[in-house]
Parts: sequence; structure tokens; C-alpha cells
Amino acid sequence: MMDRRTLLAAGTAAALAPALPALAQGTAVTPAFHHVMVGGLRATVVNDGAVTRADATRGFVMNAQPDQVAAALQAGGTPGPALVNPYNVTIIRTAVGLVMLDAGTGATPALMVNMRNAGLDPAQVVLIAHTHFHGDHIGGLLAADGSAAFPNARIAVPEAEWNFWTDPAEESRATEARRPGFANARRRFAPYDGRISRFAPGAQVAPGITAMATHGHSPGHVSFLVADGNAQLLVIGDAITTPALFMANPDWYPVFDMDPTMAVATRKRLLDQLATDRIAVVGYHFPMPATGMVERAGSGYRLVPLA
Ligand SMILES: [Zn+2]
Repeated sequence: MMDRRTLLAAGTAAALAPALPALAQGTAVTPAFHHVMVGGLRATVVNDGAVTRADATRGFVMNAQPDQVAAALQAGGTPGPALVNPYNVTIIRTAVGLVMLDAGTGATPALMVNMRNAGLDPAQVVLIAHTHFHGDHIGGLLAADGSAAFPNARIAVPEAEWNFWTDPAEESRATEARRPGFANARRRFAPYDGRISRFAPGAQVAPGITAMATHGHSPGHVSFLVADGNAQLLVIGDAITTPALFMANPDWYPVFDMDPTMAVATRKRLLDQLATDRIAVVGYHFPMPATGMVERAGSGYRLVPLA
């Protein structure tokens, strides 16, 4: 459990209060980062910008009708049909240095700017551990000139994810839409050659950070449990994305889930566990603060954002 009294950066926490209702009204006011204490470990959730999907009621949720999706967005506090999709990287200050969970999109300087504003020096990142290899999670590995954006970082990747995205047979049978992801993965990891290690679910990737299998969104997708003593924070990558859609309706799946059946099963298991065990969660695509508690609500769940 996370102790709210241990939240650092009072100024940042205070800034969240007015920003949350503003977000609910669909404005572009987004806090750039916030700190969360997990026992003695400090995690910082850093925003890396956002994109707006013009109409999330069509072509996004694959097994719901547009009017159902529109109603869910309304109920979740966003007017729709547009949906703001933020990117949030979690960075943990560990005994061995800064550990990043995913690397951002690389599409804008937002992550680098917000890291520096949060007092986090990209040169002090010693490890980047990945949930999965979709472009918005590995793009930030490269600087604009193609060099390593985190020159002192080692890389840790889920073994099953690495095996999939480096398999020429998988690449050749991939759909047109997914095939470019293979070349992109090769390109993004290239400058880190010789510094990449693979791990299996259950492995401790850094002190206090353990990988947990949450496959389905992608073949080797993992989440990371950050723990110190009894305090826990689960960083779930894309195992659950937009809460208004996929927490409220755990059977729904987005176009980006590569194995929908497995992704839905994983999502339901995670939601039950998070609500039952009262574990705080961070979602890569949750609206800032992107951190909260999962509660049962009707036939589904809802995210209660960290206040
Ligand atoms: Zn993503």
C-alpha cells in the first residue's frame, strides 16, 4: 500500500488538485510529473506528452458499438468522441541509480524536459526495463540524432517479447499494420547492443522491482511490481489502458491488443487483484496523475486517482 502522507513535492501535489477537474473537462492542462513514495523508494511518474484520437468511438474498441463507447466516455468524465491518450514513464530512484520503466515515445522532447523539471538527469539512468516493444514505449531510446538517449543505461527486456520481435518468421507473417514494428525494435535497441539483458517473469530487474507476466497486449508484455517492505506499486504498462473504457468494461479490448482473448483474461485477473489487495497502480496511458487505486463499480471497475 502507498502511504499518501509520504508524497513528496508538496507543491506538485497541490498543483494536482486544480488540474484534475480541468482534465475531466477535456482541457489540455496536464501536470508534468509527480512523486510517489513506495516505502523508502521514490517513484516519479513523468508525462511524455499525449496524442488526441479524434474519434475513439470508431475503430478503437474492437468489440463494442460506437454508442456504447460514447456512453462509457461520458460516464468516465470525458465528453468524447475525442480521447486524449497520454504517455507516462515511471522512474524509480533505487540504491543503484535511476531505473526507468519504458522509454517514452521519442516523438517530442516532453520526457526529457519533464525529467529535468522533476530533478531527474537522463545521464543518471542506469537501467531501462521494458514492459513491451510497441513504438510508444521504445521510441524514446533514441535521441534525435540516432544515438542512445540514455547513454549510461543498460536495458532489460522481457525474454518472450525479445524473442517475438526478433523472429524473422513472425515478421514475415505479421500484418501490414504490425510489420514495421519489427524494424523499429531493431533500430531503437541498436545503440544499446551489448548492454541488453533478457529476463523471465518473476525476475528481479533491479532492487525492489520485480517483473510479472501480463501477456496479451503483446506476446511478452510484463508489469513491474515496485515494493519496499509492505508498500507496493504496480506499474502495468498497457495491460490496462484508458480506465473509462477498459476498467469500466473489462471485456472490451482495444485495437492494439495483439492477443485479445489473453489480454482480456489478463486484464480481469489484474483488476480483481488490484481491487482485492488494494495495490496502487500506474498506467502508461492513464490520465495524469496516472496513479490510483482500483475499485469495483457496477459490473466493472474504476480508477480512483491519487489525490
Ligand atoms: Zn502504449
